[in-house]
Amino acid sequence: MQKPIYLDCHATTPVDERVLEAMLPYFREAFGNPASVGHLYGWETESAVKLAREAIANSINATPEEIVFTSGATEANNLAIKGIAEAYHQSGRHIITLQTEHSAVLDPCVYLQSLGFEVTYLPVQKDGLVNLEALEKALREDTILVSIMTANNEIGVIQPIQAIGQICRDHQVLFHTDAAQAIGKIPLDVESMHIDLMSLTAHKIYGAKGIGALYVRRRNPRVNLAPQLHGGGQERGRRSGTLYTPQIVGFAKALEIAIANQATEQQAALQLREQLWQRLQELDQVILNGHSTQRLAGNLNVSFPNIKGNALMLALNPVVAVSSGSACSSAKTAPSHVLTALGLSPELAYASVRFGIGRFNTIEQIKTVADHVIASVRSLKSKTQQG
Ligand SMILES: *Cc1c(COP(=O)(O)O)cnc(C)c1O
Repeated sequence: MQKPIYLDCHATTPVDERVLEAMLPYFREAFGNPASVGHLYGWETESAVKLAREAIANSINATPEEIVFTSGATEANNLAIKGIAEAYHQSGRHIITLQTEHSAVLDPCVYLQSLGFEVTYLPVQKDGLVNLEALEKALREDTILVSIMTANNEIGVIQPIQAIGQICRDHQVLFHTDAAQAIGKIPLDVESMHIDLMSLTAHKIYGAKGIGALYVRRRNPRVNLAPQLHGGGQERGRRSGTLYTPQIVGFAKALEIAIANQATEQQAALQLREQLWQRLQELDQVILNGHSTQRLAGNLNVSFPNIKGNALMLALNPVVAVSSGSACSSAKTAPSHVLTALGLSPELAYASVRFGIGRFNTIEQIKTVADHVIASVRSLKSKTQQG
């Protein structure tokens, strides 16, 4: 049986063969604990982690000491938000974030509300972008943190990070950004963008799952962070746990490849997306969600009015692997909170498809997918009209 074409690169990506090759020695002969500084086994993994940490730090214009390895962006977001809340609660208990953030940002914020923190969930404009004036107005004397994602995982919208960073810096409020979707795809510079904390993950850029990092600024200002995992004191006490050398080495390799080929790779993804979008407009009703240009090259999120979302997913399933505009939380499904924040009705949100185009997709695949989506939507429409 042939598997469907994979167009779900915002959910995860396959491990690049070159990344796997870089990782393998650290599963086999070089298996030491990087904290075992008394012998060769520890030295070789310690030095591998050191090189990877330097490469990752360099790629965002940070220093190696500012990188804290985590299990991924979920943990990095939790460490940033809860760690700042715990370290700064005496200065204030107010946090600002966006309604369209990933649940790994929203849920820690909801949790902090249960501890007495106040959280402002800023709405976004129809195109998914933050309103900078609204952000500035929301800042208060007791605001300790602004957390706004770099690029959205559903609609791909890229926020004006540098302008947000500048506003936060002017008001002396710490700025955290979840860059899980942005890292490796757009240039990121923690200095020029005034970023104080940044969450990263490897598995959206062809690294392995289970590894990520939190960038934590050490100068101008020095950010304090209360650890959320206590134990052996790894990562300068900020995140205990034995470092996962193969994943860390693979993360650095994945990032190196992504950045070395950033311009050409993003241009290729953009061309495939444009091709897909052009084809989908053969349908008389199709809506693009999110800003048309201020978005990730590989992202296309569209709604098909007057179509049942679950019927559409069933029809698409055999040919293409994509995500829909519904979020499954346990047994219940709910319309995507990102799409409803843009003003979409629940019906329209359900009838939405997120296409995530990546490194290994081809123009032939895009043609096949476009043909199938168009045929499926037309067939579902004629069915609803009949009965
Ligand atoms: C994937 C993703 C996460 C979660 O990252 P993990 O490494 O899987 O924990 C968080 N935020 C955004 C924006 C994401 O796309």
